[in-house]
Amino acid sequence: MTIPPRRGRIVPALATLCLMWTVAACTSGSRPEPVASGPTSTPTPTATSAAPACDPRASRRPAGPLPAPGKPPAGSYMDTVRKRGLLRLGTSQDTLLFSSRNPLTGVVEGFDVDMGRQVAAAIFGDPSKLQIVVIPNKDRAAAVMSGRVDLVAETMTINCERLKLVDFSTVYYQAGQKVLVARGSAARSIADLGGKRVCAAAGSTSLANLAKVPSHPVGVAAPTQADCLVRFQEGTVDAVSTDDTILAGLAAQDPYARVVGPAFTDEPYGMAISRAHPEFTRFVNAVLERDRSDGTWARLYRAWLGAQFGPAPAPPAARYLD
Ligand code: GLU
Repeated sequence: MTIPPRRGRIVPALATLCLMWTVAACTSGSRPEPVASGPTSTPTPTATSAAPACDPRASRRPAGPLPAPGKPPAGSYMDTVRKRGLLRLGTSQDTLLFSSRNPLTGVVEGFDVDMGRQVAAAIFGDPSKLQIVVIPNKDRAAAVMSGRVDLVAETMTINCERLKLVDFSTVYYQAGQKVLVARGSAARSIADLGGKRVCAAAGSTSLANLAKVPSHPVGVAAPTQADCLVRFQEGTVDAVSTDDTILAGLAAQDPYARVVGPAFTDEPYGMAISRAHPEFTRFVNAVLERDRSDGTWARLYRAWLGAQFGPAPAPPAARYLD
């Protein structure tokens, strides 16, 4: 088939747009809880401490009901963010549906961004108090650990390896890895792509998962998934493989591409947060609890994902460490 010209929404260079919630009350669960040390400090590496039994889906339990919007407890990390005046959210700018730059407004928007906006609304009483920081996929954990951002919501899979570096919220979306191929391709799944060049983002679970597929596709790393789509359109790779969520956004930009399944991995998404202030993870989990129960999660699902994936399912259930 003829490879179509590059089109649509692939974006240019990286840019930045611009209780009981005290630390002392937050000591339970099997993850160690280092002393809070401020937003810009580098946390003590924990990768060498004795590995706890890991349940990637379990996170820190909320310490209680959410405080009133705009009134986080004095001395908490949330109060530090409130005093700063903006919540810094690390995310992508080219993942259509989850976090991509709207070319008409210049604003980065999507399901992931709105997960962050709910946290901003709980801290400030105002969802617009959000600073988007565009983070390459491979730098997501480092951006949290260094304090460059307060949290990352970037189609980020929770796994035990990453949990050695950062905390994660409870699961806010359940994805799975599939494949995008040309419409004329005979391939029906990853099993049909043995020996073929299959692109995924550097630093993603997608690339690591490809190395384990029995049909032995040849994994090709690109800086972002959008780069993978360009390479697919240029014909330098045969397919793109990553989460079904991300592939749906790529397919929406290319009428010559289609997504084939089944999903061959589990990719539970969580928001990544520094381990230096566990009360913030508990706070984010309280926001998610509320979003699940008051219909906010379903509303955001319908707004961003309904057209691609149909009616909103039940949100992923929260699981806690204790
Ligand atoms: N969910 C996968 C990960 O966290 C893929 C995400 C992506 O390529 O952006 O690595």
